[in-house]
Amino acid sequence: MGTVMSKKTRAMKIISELESLYPKAASALNYQNPLQCMIATILSAQCTDAQVNKITPQLFRKYPDAEAFANATLPELENDIRSTGFFRNKAKAIRQSCQSVMKDHAGFVPDTIEKLLTLTGIGRKTANCVIGNAYGKPAVMVDTHVKRLVYRMGLSAQKNPDKIEMELKRLLPESLWTKASHLLIHHGRQVCSARKPKCEECSVNQLCLKKGI
Ligand code: SF4
Repeated sequence: MGTVMSKKTRAMKIISELESLYPKAASALNYQNPLQCMIATILSAQCTDAQVNKITPQLFRKYPDAEAFANATLPELENDIRSTGFFRNKAKAIRQSCQSVMKDHAGFVPDTIEKLLTLTGIGRKTANCVIGNAYGKPAVMVDTHVKRLVYRMGLSAQKNPDKIEMELKRLLPESLWTKASHLLIHHGRQVCSARKPKCEECSVNQLCLKKGI
């Protein structure tokens, strides 16, 4: 299998199989603009998307733009997002990134990875989520599911998310980057969970090297 089929072919077959399995795979976070996407993504670290979606309607009403988040007082913002966990770090990241947006980008969330990465508090994963989800541009999002799945599937042995991102970008055409990220995340949640991957009922079983299983 792995020896006769190139990694690129295998990656393509896996993604097309997952595509027919989850035709509607997309971000589960609710947002209406790039700013809200950025905030929701920051909040989603170590938290379920459902929990984030529970608090964002009220949060986005209270803080309607980057200026409102930039001027928030930390204790109040911490309190508003407390239920998503790690609220001190998240409040700091939200406030700092919005301050950068106000100061350097006239209140608009930038639409390139390079510029997004200049915002204080924004890492590569959040930047890719904003690019891929809010701006609809090609982006590979490497979260804990993607990292685990590509390792097990034998698509990348890298541990560093940035290196995994680069490897997936080499394996897949640009047009599939964002989609592939959502499909892998979906499959990780539904079938290939961290503790108990359901290999017997997995539709990419024949294409997966099952490394570490
Ligand atoms: S075969 Fe097993 S390890 Fe491979 S993707 Fe499916 S569930 Fe995960």
